[in-house]
Amino acid sequence: MYKLGEVKKDKKIDTIFLLVIFFLFFIIALFSYLLKVNDIIYERNQYDSAIAKLPVYDESFNNFFLKSTSFNNYDVVNRNIFNFEEIIKLLNSNDIKEKYGNRYLELLEKLETNFNEKRDAIERFKSQNALLISSIHYQISLNKAITDKKLLKGNKDIQLLNKTMTDLLAYYINPSIDYEHIEKNIQYFSKLYEKNKLRELKLFIQHALVNTQRIQELFTIKKTNFQLNKSIYDLKEFLTTKFENALYNSRIVVTILFIIAFLILSIVVFLYKRSLRIKDDLISFKTAVENSYNSIVITDSHSNIIYVNDMAVKETGYSRDELIGQNPRILKSGDKSESFYRKMHEHLDAGRKWEGEFVNRRKDGSQYYEKASIMPIVERGRITNYLAIKLNITDYIMQQRKVEYMAYHDSLTGLPNRTNIEEYLEYQLPIAEENNLGIAVLFIDIDNFKTINDSLGHDVGDSVIIECSKILKNTVKESEIVARIGGDEFVIIISGENTKHTSTNLCSEILKSFAKPIEANGYKLSITLSIGVSLFPEDSNDHKKLFKHADIAMYEAKDKGKNNFQFYKKKLSSQMHDRLEIEQALKQALKEDEIYVVYQPKYDIATKQIVGLEALARWNSKELGNIRPDKFISIAEETGDILEIGHFIFKKACEDFRTFKTIYPELESISINVSTIQLYNKKFVEEILNITKETKVYTSSVMIEITETHVMKNITYSMGVLNTLKEFGFRVSIDDFGTGHSSLNYLKRFPIDELKIDKSFVDDLPLDSNDIAIAKAIISLSRNMGYKNVAEGIETIEQEEFLLSHGCDVGQGYLFCKPKEKEDLLEFLQDQLS
Ligand code: C2E
Ligand code: CA
Ligand code: CA
Repeated sequence: MYKLGEVKKDKKIDTIFLLVIFFLFFIIALFSYLLKVNDIIYERNQYDSAIAKLPVYDESFNNFFLKSTSFNNYDVVNRNIFNFEEIIKLLNSNDIKEKYGNRYLELLEKLETNFNEKRDAIERFKSQNALLISSIHYQISLNKAITDKKLLKGNKDIQLLNKTMTDLLAYYINPSIDYEHIEKNIQYFSKLYEKNKLRELKLFIQHALVNTQRIQELFTIKKTNFQLNKSIYDLKEFLTTKFENALYNSRIVVTILFIIAFLILSIVVFLYKRSLRIKDDLISFKTAVENSYNSIVITDSHSNIIYVNDMAVKETGYSRDELIGQNPRILKSGDKSESFYRKMHEHLDAGRKWEGEFVNRRKDGSQYYEKASIMPIVERGRITNYLAIKLNITDYIMQQRKVEYMAYHDSLTGLPNRTNIEEYLEYQLPIAEENNLGIAVLFIDIDNFKTINDSLGHDVGDSVIIECSKILKNTVKESEIVARIGGDEFVIIISGENTKHTSTNLCSEILKSFAKPIEANGYKLSITLSIGVSLFPEDSNDHKKLFKHADIAMYEAKDKGKNNFQFYKKKLSSQMHDRLEIEQALKQALKEDEIYVVYQPKYDIATKQIVGLEALARWNSKELGNIRPDKFISIAEETGDILEIGHFIFKKACEDFRTFKTIYPELESISINVSTIQLYNKKFVEEILNITKETKVYTSSVMIEITETHVMKNITYSMGVLNTLKEFGFRVSIDDFGTGHSSLNYLKRFPIDELKIDKSFVDDLPLDSNDIAIAKAIISLSRNMGYKNVAEGIETIEQEEFLLSHGCDVGQGYLFCKPKEKEDLLEFLQDQLS
């Protein structure tokens, strides 16, 4: 089996081995060269000492020549000749001849020739000198005999002979002296011999002549310029130069060898160190590969697996033995096309790195995603292996899909979201156009959803949304799309022929399916919807405009009293525009001090005494002029601005109430209208308690007015809040009573102080019998239950009289006093007192 680390043998090791061989080779070469140098030096010492002797011998030969006519020791000269010859023999040895070549031979030959010449001269000198000496002795004895025996007649001749003898001896010693007078004397004695025929004289003359020649010859030998010394010198010079050159060359070679060996050694050390490091690296690499979080798979050139790391084993679910030898295609899930794999192989076969994603299957059949990078390993131009590094990205892919899903779906209901439905509509429009089909966009908004959310909490709000989404899904066909595009807003898109007709039916059906209360977190809640519809191609062929138009139509449905549906009409747009303008302007209203409070007195109908005041909001917008409260209050409720506005009014009303009370102490209460949005706000009670504390107004002086319809929307919750208000001493009034279909059962249990008969029942008093019946019923009802009753909108004396005669306690209306600003009301109160 393939083991990691064998994957690539370290080539450096081979190189190091080779370099060590080289190194050894150079070291050996270096040593043998050093030996050679040693030899050269030794050899040189040998012949150098021999050659050094040659000039000494030569000198002895020269000395020998100096000793002519005297006794000479031939032994010394003979020995030196012998030694000289021995040295020549030595220099003639083959070794040296081979080494120094022709020039050496030439020089040696010359030396030999010169030596032979000198030796011959010595031999001649020896013999001539010997003969000369004995001849001189003979001459002397002849001279002595002639003198002693007086063989010559005259003394004069004898004297001349003696003198000649003496001259001759001087001449023999120094042949350069004048020889002419000696010659004259010898000629004289030759003539004398002609006369006396003296044998001794003849011999004397003969020897004198011979010796003269001999001395000349010796002299010539002595004077001969022998070349021996020079040839010794030349040879010596030659050998010295040769030796020095050889030594120099050897030194250079040795130095070079040394440098090379040193370099090789350095490289070896460097490579070895590096290979150690590489080895360490390899070990860490191996550990890293084997323990990697990536799957690592190596195949041979035929794509057969030869190595897998632990992670690859873990990921695939196959054992190592099952994987080795297999083609990685056993992991294919079939999720990718054949062309995908073909392209990958083309890429790899071209020797290029490939990166991509696999969808693979484990042994147990489960699918997983891998991000892979595969590298062909190329050696000497041939692909030998493939290395695949893979990372399991299943979690990432799933996460990504989830993110993608989330980007297109609403997390609460699982319905498509705004982006999704917008893209869908954009996509559907051209298709519908091509097929001559229509499209209807339904904008659905849950009525008063904010109240539910604020009063019952987000959990209940969420489950209302979920329930609504379920009902909507059940109402539409499967092919029709329901999306949630915002808090309580849904969109349905339907397409087909005559979508106006189908959407009318669908809207009715949807409204009907909400007739029954829905169950949300244990609460039973009556939910109604407002629906706006826009049509393609009638209203627009732009998807954004279709959405906008449906939205506008939905607001129209709200305006029309909610719980209904409206088709988009072009004129709607201008109304909607107003609404949007109000919405925008309202944001600035408080900051710009555009909102203020007016007060309308409530009076005892019987005594005409003012008992209380109702605070009413007013908005004088710089941009839009005076906006009626029933208009802007409902918008403020939708936008949530009512919380801030309500707080402002509450505080202002309490402050002003204290002022009014100082002037008119009989004032019992200040009535403040409170929207359910405020009432259901968790902090409401705490906030108004703070206000009463700050403004030093008793809670019992504050009458909170809530409209009947709102209270009835969510009886359980309303009851809770009203009880809390009562606990803190506030008083409660049910406003617009008679419009909200209150059940008497509930009414009995409500902690109420006052009922206000709605203006609509007062308007037609005392003429309309229906209104008379209702007014009478409300008055008797409140009396029975112990509540005060208030009739609002009294404009005529008839109305007032009727109400008084039927036992109505308190009245409010233009007849008595219109709502007034603070200063005007103060005046009014003053007037009342006087
Ligand atoms: P509401 O609470 O029923 O207030 C009585 C409305 O009847 C007031 O209209 C008042 O000016 C009007 N009114 C009184 N006597 C007569 C009369 O003899 N003839 C006629 N034609 N009208 C009379 P206003 O001020 O326009 O308020 C309208 C509604 O706006 C109020 O009805 C109330 O529901 C709401 N509103 C006003 N101010 C506030 C406020 O501060 N907070 C809240 N939440 N709602 C307010
Ligand atoms: Ca009111
Ligand atoms: Ca009212």
